[in-house]
Amino acid sequence: MAKAFASQADLEEKQITFSKLADNAYAYTTEGDPNTGVVIGEHGVLVVDTQATPIMARDVIERIRSVTDKPVKYIVLTHYHAVRVLGASAYGADHIISSQDTYDLIVERGEQDYKSEYERFPRLFRGGDSIPGLTWPNLTFSGQMTLRLGKTEVRIMQLGRGHTKGDTVVWLPKEKVLFSGDLVEYGATPYTGDAYLGDWPATLDNIAGLEPKALVPGRGEALTTRESVKAALDGTRAFVTRMFETVKQGQKAGKDLKDVYKETYKALKPDFGQWVIFDHCLPFDVSRAYDEAGGIRDPRIWTARRDAEMWQALEG
Ligand SMILES: [Zn+2]
Repeated sequence: MAKAFASQADLEEKQITFSKLADNAYAYTTEGDPNTGVVIGEHGVLVVDTQATPIMARDVIERIRSVTDKPVKYIVLTHYHAVRVLGASAYGADHIISSQDTYDLIVERGEQDYKSEYERFPRLFRGGDSIPGLTWPNLTFSGQMTLRLGKTEVRIMQLGRGHTKGDTVVWLPKEKVLFSGDLVEYGATPYTGDAYLGDWPATLDNIAGLEPKALVPGRGEALTTRESVKAALDGTRAFVTRMFETVKQGQKAGKDLKDVYKETYKALKPDFGQWVIFDHCLPFDVSRAYDEAGGIRDPRIWTARRDAEMWQALEG
């Protein structure tokens, strides 16, 4: 039987964990669904990635209320993907911060991405009717910016491209806590459909160079030991480099996308097949890797239609 498209057959609700990383930092993690980070400043709260819908964001707000009554003043978007940004309106924050590169991607492909992601993974859009439209950052930066929330210093940084062109991490230098977005995953398959695979390993080097004591990945549990932080960085790097290398070899040998996909699936399944969303991600991942190997510099825009056509071609 053909595989159900992307994650349409994934309906099982996940257990949510709200864990303390430092006196002023928390992780809202979801057993492999998209995570959210929370930083509590002197006069207000900063949220890193919002969840997919305002209804889902309400649960994050409830957890925040269990530890502070300060208002949410800042939202940082680690990148443009719909499952991370479309819940933003629930927080009533004054500032929605992103890199200029992320802003540009929302302009260029935000609408198509919204429709495409909704179709791929309906469970992640609980209360989808509550989404008022695209989320527009009102404060953008290039490279790096620093917020000082009283004693808490928050560095919002682009350390290089990887998962998308606009990737941004949030770093608390004093506490050594990092919120990485989808640049780092743990027990979850990296999605590389919009990635810069050649750049990604150097960006992971830059993250490792910060020597985080705790790291909240895009998906997977919060990592609170040096060993587990290293394991997440190593695992992400292993997947990204092996997948890209396998695709490059096939592409160079003149094989078509479908053959390269089948080969790559077989090569990666034994080591990475136990990670969540492996079967969902791999067709998208290999499609982008094949393009990049063939010299297509920027990821092509995924639309609901292109998604379906690709899936039919590779899995039909
Ligand atoms: Zn993403």
